Amino acid sequence: MLIREWFVRLALALVLLSTQMATTADSPDIVLELAGQLTGADHESYKEVPFDVPAGVKRITVNVSYDRENRTVVDLGIFDPHRFRGWSGGNKATFSLAETDATLSYLPGPLPAGEWTLILGIPNIRTDTVANYRAEVVLEFGMSANSKGFAPSPLNDNADWYRGELHTHTAHSDGSCLRQSGSNGPCPVYKTVEAAVERNLDFVAVTEHNTLSHHQSLNELQMAFDQTVLMSGREITTFYGHANIFGTTEFIDFRVRDHQINSVLQAASQLGAFVYINHPGLPSGEVCMGCGWIAETDYSLIDAVEVVNGSVIDSGAGLLKSPLSGIPFWENLLNTGHKVTAIAGSDNHNADLRSDSGRRTAIGEVTTVVFARTLSQQDLLEGLRSGRAFIDLEGSADRFVELRAEAGGEHALMGETLVVAAGDDIRVTVSAQNTPDATFALYHNGALVNVELDYVRDDDLLETTITLQATGESEWLRAEVVSTQGKVLLMSNAVYVNFLD
Ligand SMILES: [Zn+2]
Ligand SMILES: [Zn+2]
Repeated sequence: MLIREWFVRLALALVLLSTQMATTADSPDIVLELAGQLTGADHESYKEVPFDVPAGVKRITVNVSYDRENRTVVDLGIFDPHRFRGWSGGNKATFSLAETDATLSYLPGPLPAGEWTLILGIPNIRTDTVANYRAEVVLEFGMSANSKGFAPSPLNDNADWYRGELHTHTAHSDGSCLRQSGSNGPCPVYKTVEAAVERNLDFVAVTEHNTLSHHQSLNELQMAFDQTVLMSGREITTFYGHANIFGTTEFIDFRVRDHQINSVLQAASQLGAFVYINHPGLPSGEVCMGCGWIAETDYSLIDAVEVVNGSVIDSGAGLLKSPLSGIPFWENLLNTGHKVTAIAGSDNHNADLRSDSGRRTAIGEVTTVVFARTLSQQDLLEGLRSGRAFIDLEGSADRFVELRAEAGGEHALMGETLVVAAGDDIRVTVSAQNTPDATFALYHNGALVNVELDYVRDDDLLETTITLQATGESEWLRAEVVSTQGKVLLMSNAVYVNFLD
């Protein structure tokens, strides 16, 4: 009897089974395993399970399991060292909290160091029942936190091309749309998501000016929209230019002065973020305050450039050939040895806009199509970073363009680099799908390749191949698919030759 009582008391006490340090440098998570037993004496009581949180934790995730025989039920809640942080009763076995988002039932906010308390409420356990419980508490630090996005797992496990929208605003910054009364007002996040779903997009990003307040709305909506990745971004908005940042929900100080933007870019880089410059060709100064990119910039910290921006097109600046477009800026970066991905975004500020508005700022009117290992935020960003992506200027459902360079049995696709000796032949193939009657424009180091192209047309496939001689220097190629009316339908990313970046 005495021995049994001692055993039960020992088991009831908090048992710290292990503290593990993960081995990868970018994921120094701590995993606490808390375990114990519940008995009939715990019926209709609240058990407190304390655990220590060190400074610097960015996300706390709790997974609880227990023996459910004999109708044992355990409810869950949590307190931080100072205050109540949420209660999910018996409706969730897993929950997480971070500064700007938390599982519903829980309160996002700072994660103070000190003793936190997991509460196990026990509405029922029979007198003669002994139930084991186990709580795994994962403490994430730094860049490992929040990079995966809000969906707990990929929404599609297939490696594939995915289409989406990378630049929108809602009421969390300056987005507005029709309210119930019919007047215009602050536009809730769900309308942006609904517009993206209507357009059959695989992903949509909400990129508010500097703030992070939209994360919890996206987190909440992601549960209902389980076929569309909702990406949390922000548009770092300075007096010297705008840049979108993805892959982190950490605050990054945007309050730079004297054209010095590198502190922002370095902070983003340290957080493992994906960073691109928005609408760089717009003017700056009183005519458009902070719009153009005039910051002193370490371009090695830039992943991409928004070469197509819906609001720039809608402003009447012309589609691509205008100096206000982002293309000259992007090409200049490539010509100076920076390998950066070209992407597009509508810059939508009104989620009610649809295709029939004729506006390129309607959500999904200009899309970025990216090859990703799965449909998840992390893999989409990895795909964008790799450059295996193209721009669809009409937001179609099915158009494709691919660019391929071959030499000496090796080949490179968009975003990849081919290494070739000076004087060797490079065979460059452009192919497009679902663009009947279109033609190609091929650019080499920013200049139009002025040769007659021979087309192979086979049902919905369009293809051409030309041969160039390698110069032995850094070179790059890109292609546009152009309609018979002269409209650019698709823009490829670059294939690089002998590029060192
Ligand atoms: Zn902007
Ligand atoms: Zn914007």
